[in-house]
Amino acid sequence: MAIEPGRDKLCPLCGGRLQEKTATLPFVVKGTVVIVKGALAEVCEDCGEAFLTGKATDEVVALLQDAVSRGVELTVVTLPQVPSPV
Ligand SMILES: [Zn+2]
Repeated sequence: MAIEPGRDKLCPLCGGRLQEKTATLPFVVKGTVVIVKGALAEVCEDCGEAFLTGKATDEVVALLQDAVSRGVELTVVTLPQVPSPV
C-alpha cells in the first residue's frame, strides 16, 4: 500500500500524526498468542497506537491462521524486513 506523499494520515483514536515504521505487535486469537516483530505499521506519534499497513495485515492474518490451526499457545514471529519505499 503506497503512502501518498504530502498527505498525513491521522490516528483514528487521538488524531495524532501517523508515522510508518516497523513495530512489535501482540495478537491474541482464540487463545493463541502471536507476537509479530518487524511488522510494517503506522504508529501514532502521540498515543503510540500502531496500525498495520495493508500488506502487513495480509501477512499477519496468514500467520495468525497458521498458528491457530496448529494449536500454538504462544509464538514469536519476525517478519522479513522490506526496504522502505522511496
Ligand atoms: Zn493516536
